[in-house]
Amino acid sequence: MKSGFVALIGRPNVGKSTFLNAILGKKVSIVTPIPQTTRYKIRGIYTDNRGQIVFIDTPGFYKPQHFLGKTLFNFMKDSIKEVDLVLYMTDVTRPVGEEELEIMKMIINENKKTIMALNKIDRGTGFSNDYIEYWNKLTKDLKKNPLLFFVPISALNNKNLDKIIDIIFENLEEGTLLYPQDMLSDLPKEIAFSDIIREKLYMFLKDELPHSIGVNIEEMTEKSENLMYIKAIIYVEKPSHKKIVIGKDGRILKEAGKLARQELETILNKKVYLDLWVKVKEDWPNKPQFLRELGYES
Ligand code: GDP
Ligand code: MG
Repeated sequence: MKSGFVALIGRPNVGKSTFLNAILGKKVSIVTPIPQTTRYKIRGIYTDNRGQIVFIDTPGFYKPQHFLGKTLFNFMKDSIKEVDLVLYMTDVTRPVGEEELEIMKMIINENKKTIMALNKIDRGTGFSNDYIEYWNKLTKDLKKNPLLFFVPISALNNKNLDKIIDIIFENLEEGTLLYPQDMLSDLPKEIAFSDIIREKLYMFLKDELPHSIGVNIEEMTEKSENLMYIKAIIYVEKPSHKKIVIGKDGRILKEAGKLARQELETILNKKVYLDLWVKVKEDWPNKPQFLRELGYES
């Protein structure tokens, strides 16, 4: 039996969450068209008769600007150190950018065995060759290239995802199961639930306020065998943001809340009373103490 940890690394929007959801067959990590909404170190756990792969879904990479940015950057760096393998995902529909080169350098520096997934090939080969060329250029003077394979995939259409799993198992050490067999994610429920609420809000907010919404589950109480009360606070940075989140006649909050409630009911398999509040907390992404309260590690 084999087991180990795999860091899923890549820029925002390359398809990391889509990949995880596809192989785990159930929602564990939020997917939205807006970059940088996955902020937590989410582990998806894949188990079959060959063993167990624990995925660490790192938040998107971006240059540290304020405190929250630094935290994300550190997540990504730390997650490479902790793992047995790196699954580095790129989006072949996008040209190789400067950020991409920084990620490549970071991975190469850590010298971990790496699989490069060239995602979105359902839209053609795109810039695949550029990604391969850049990687080869950066590693040409190394004695040993940490890269095991380039694998073209489509996370959306389930193409070659089994190949990725095969390669991972081939390269993991022997080991026993790290988590119970039926476990999909070891995220605390509160964090997974706040992600669901955030995801539904983003569906209505499109690209407004992508970085300044924080959701905290303040209370979860079992009111009866068939009813869960969940109170969540949605934090925004400014009073004007509060208006946007609530929407005209409260429409956004109501619609997003309804979708979130339905998803929570499916997960919990019981009725949910979802009590949503929007509060202004000036400049919250720059407050370390508050970030910890919301569940961001530092
Ligand atoms: P993440 O930020 O890396 O986690 O990326 P997401 O998984 O949230 O995906 C970002 C966007 O890319 C979403 O709109 C996905 O539907 C889309 N996407 C992901 N994988 C594929 C793929 O294989 N093909 C295509 N065409 N789109 C994809
Ligand atoms: Mg994601």
